[in-house]
Amino acid sequence: MTKGYRNTVQRTQILDAVRAADSHLTAGEIFECVRRRDPRIAYGTVYRALHLLAQHGLVQELTFADQASRYDKRVDRHDHVHCLGCGVLVDVDVPVALIARHVAAEQSGFEVESHHTVFAGRCRECKGKRTTADARHNRAETFALADDEREG
Ligand SMILES: [Zn+2]
Ligand SMILES: [Zn+2]
Repeated sequence: MTKGYRNTVQRTQILDAVRAADSHLTAGEIFECVRRRDPRIAYGTVYRALHLLAQHGLVQELTFADQASRYDKRVDRHDHVHCLGCGVLVDVDVPVALIARHVAAEQSGFEVESHHTVFAGRCRECKGKRTTADARHNRAETFALADDEREG
């Protein structure tokens, strides 16, 4: 699990691309960045390396039910506002999210180890483009990042 991580040239390039970005990029976007420097790199290599970097806590993988995962250079606890129009993610620190964590632990009896709140809506740019048929704004979703290594 945390053993066996090797720092290859490609992994360093991929990690650098995540850290250099000023937004939360998808694997495809990171692949485009890395490919500019190393045209021979394969998408699968980038994809697997991102999972590995996330497993080792060097980046944070943010998953969304119906959209591509995005990768975050910030690995400390923080929350996100997610645009339903263009998919952009913006970092926010919401103090009340910490209260939500206690409530979740109390109601489920779980020992809650991590959590992450996603506020879904429209960014400034998409807000202007919103059609009347589209009333999905103001929807907030809260979910904990999966800690699937705890089982067994
Ligand atoms: Zn947007
Ligand atoms: Zn973030």
